[in-house]
Amino acid sequence: ILPIIYVITPTFTRLVQKAELVRLSQTLMHVPSLHWIVVEDAATKTSLVTELLKQSGLQYTHLNVETPKDFKLKEGDPNWLKPRGVEQRNLALQWLRDNRELSDEGVVYFADDDNTYSLQLFQEMRFTKRVSVWPVGLVGGMRFERPLVENGKVTGFYTAWKPNRPFPMDMAGFAISLQLLLANPTAHFHLEAERGYLESSLLETLVSIEELEPKADQCRKVLIWHTRTEKPKMKQEEALQKQGLGSDI
Ligand code: UDP
Ligand code: MN
Repeated sequence: ILPIIYVITPTFTRLVQKAELVRLSQTLMHVPSLHWIVVEDAATKTSLVTELLKQSGLQYTHLNVETPKDFKLKEGDPNWLKPRGVEQRNLALQWLRDNRELSDEGVVYFADDDNTYSLQLFQEMRFTKRVSVWPVGLVGGMRFERPLVENGKVTGFYTAWKPNRPFPMDMAGFAISLQLLLANPTAHFHLEAERGYLESSLLETLVSIEELEPKADQCRKVLIWHTRTEKPKMKQEEALQKQGLGSDI
């Protein structure tokens, strides 16, 4: 039997949320032996996410935790100002620690709701021993960032932005074995991590660079893209609503 892939997705209410979650859920429907952990950045669970999960037919866990006010982005803030999805991912890690055992085989992947995932990526990560890594497309001001591999070992990183970070990688560029996470019960993402250091704050306590397992053809294939969805403009709809001509379905 296949080790289970635990996909952890933080998500929050905004106009494009349903579109993002429909796309991601319909990708995940093609992946066998998968458990989706969706964590809403909200004080209570929304019916939108509740219904979407129910109807998906996926195996899932639905959680929620609100980002503390001081760490929350405000309308109009550039989105790099604060880390996003941190408390949500940590809650999912806690859920795994509370509900899974060291003898359970699995792999944990952090999949933001707006990225684009090739199905092949899930095959690549399935048999992760400790931490596996691969390139991420459209990120860091480059067509892709990638771990550099020599003789089957990661020796460094092709990245231009803050290259001296301990693990200069995007959240979407690695997966962690469930056993490694359970064996390190305090490993978590640091809410106060400096910009760009969130991934490092978790990985530093779990692996060294030499231990990383390069996947996706020795990190020469891009199977995940850090796509971002444009915020839609509602100018016309607001004008109609002002005239009392708005519509709801
Ligand atoms: N997110 C969240 N709360 C927020 C902002 C973002 O839970 O206030 C989630 C979002 O849905 C996504 C992840 O955190 O799954 C990363 O956010 P985003 O895609 O905006 O970050 P970026 O890719 O631009 O770094
Ligand atoms: Mn994103």
